[in-house]
Amino acid sequence: MNSPTQPIAGHAIQVLFVTSEMHPLIKTGGLADVSAALPAALGALGVNCRVLMPAYPGLIEAVGAELILDGLAPFAWGPRCRVLSGQVPNSEVPIYLLDAPELYHRPGGPYQDDSGFDWPDNALRFGLLSRVAAQLCVGQSALQWRPQVLHANDWQSGLAAAYLKLNPSNAVRSVFSVHNLAFQGNFSPDWMPRLDLPWSLFAPEGLEFHNWLSFIKSGLYYSDRLTTVSPSYAKEIQTPELGLGLDGLLRHRHESLSGILNGINPNEWDPAADPHIAQPYDQDRLDDKAANRKALSQQLGLNVADDFLLLGMVSRMTYQKGSDLVLDALPELLRRPLACVVLGSGDTELEQRWREWAARRPDRIAVHIGYNEALAHQIEAGSDAFLMPSRFEPCGLNQMYSMRYGTPPIVRRTGGLVDSVTDASPSALASSTATGVVFDTASPAALVSAVDRTRALYEQPDLWRGLQITGMGQEFSWTRSAVAYLELYRTLIPDPSTA
Ligand code: ADP
Repeated sequence: MNSPTQPIAGHAIQVLFVTSEMHPLIKTGGLADVSAALPAALGALGVNCRVLMPAYPGLIEAVGAELILDGLAPFAWGPRCRVLSGQVPNSEVPIYLLDAPELYHRPGGPYQDDSGFDWPDNALRFGLLSRVAAQLCVGQSALQWRPQVLHANDWQSGLAAAYLKLNPSNAVRSVFSVHNLAFQGNFSPDWMPRLDLPWSLFAPEGLEFHNWLSFIKSGLYYSDRLTTVSPSYAKEIQTPELGLGLDGLLRHRHESLSGILNGINPNEWDPAADPHIAQPYDQDRLDDKAANRKALSQQLGLNVADDFLLLGMVSRMTYQKGSDLVLDALPELLRRPLACVVLGSGDTELEQRWREWAARRPDRIAVHIGYNEALAHQIEAGSDAFLMPSRFEPCGLNQMYSMRYGTPPIVRRTGGLVDSVTDASPSALASSTATGVVFDTASPAALVSAVDRTRALYEQPDLWRGLQITGMGQEFSWTRSAVAYLELYRTLIPDPSTA
């Protein structure tokens, strides 16, 4: 491996990948999975991709990081910071940690405190990340490495593109990936001078969004190329329904916008070699899946007869994920022979409603509020079918994990769910291309009829097994996604070997 501080020989494209979370170091959602997998997959294709992220508590030790840049003062008035260099555990990916203890060394999550309130200085915390990312690109640092592409992700690094544009000597090209347009990083304009942003940028053709300083708009407006995490979501965010007020800008930039479906980590999500589950299995040993169903039911105190459909759900408990649709459908669902296992956390009211249902029907509904990696795997392996009734879904990972675990997903027809799940229509079943059940309307009634359709399939063992096997055979590799990102970088970077 090349040392992160050595220039690399040859024509490898040099990419600085800026993110606010990365599995297994810190994770709140799919961005962490992407940040773990994509740089590694790009590395395997010969891209020199290095990650920059904040040094949250424990990370310096976790990556064995060493100091490489000290005493940085990205904002004249603001906190000093330093950059350390290390390597992502079990990976070849070099990582730079941005260390500013007063901003990042806190208990709680990366964006919120333990009570679920946003950190009041998030504009500074992620403005600093963006600023340092841009500075590492344009030769204002002593780093012995210069990226050609700055690849920023979501609002947390959205300002990096604006900072790059503000530097006239900048030759670095920028890519901005939207993992979820709903998280926008909108702050009071008072932050403009504090973040060294000239007021001239606070305009509709710039950073202003409904009188807020919008970090995501910075990424969308100033980056050379835009991506989002599925082709369908790339189209949907250009519509008023899912564009969240940014659809006009996205339509304007449609020629620079593309959708690249995320992959999954096939080693981490492998039913044949999953250390978290009771009994490994694969397509040829699918009967062994039943042991996981039994173990999961026992562990959670459920009383699930063999002919009951055990539905699993792992997600943030939010309106986006349709958690409320399932809750509203429960009275009707519970008239059927089925049970539910739910893992997640999120809106306090939704958490409370789930707790109440679990208390009322402990034989049929098991709820675990919180984050639990092992249980997520056990639910994928032990459930019969997986519920994902999202109102919108940029890509979604759990539907892909479910297919791989022979647990057909029941999904709403939106975003990445459209691009990854094939509905069990009669023709798709006949051609062995069906992988799940897809429904249209975001309503409890539509959800109930999708579950009924799933039950009808479940009651036909041959059809059900076909659905499972087709899903397990799907290819959702990161290599395919990484090739698409590499092609995108190549449109920005002329290949010196062909000059
Ligand atoms: P999003 O990023 O919108 O939350 P994704 O489906 O893209 O949704 O990714 C969510 C990731 O987080 C998946 O890897 C999922 O398994 C995981 N996850 C979500 N909630 C939990 C939880 N409570 N416990 C364990 N893993 C979770």
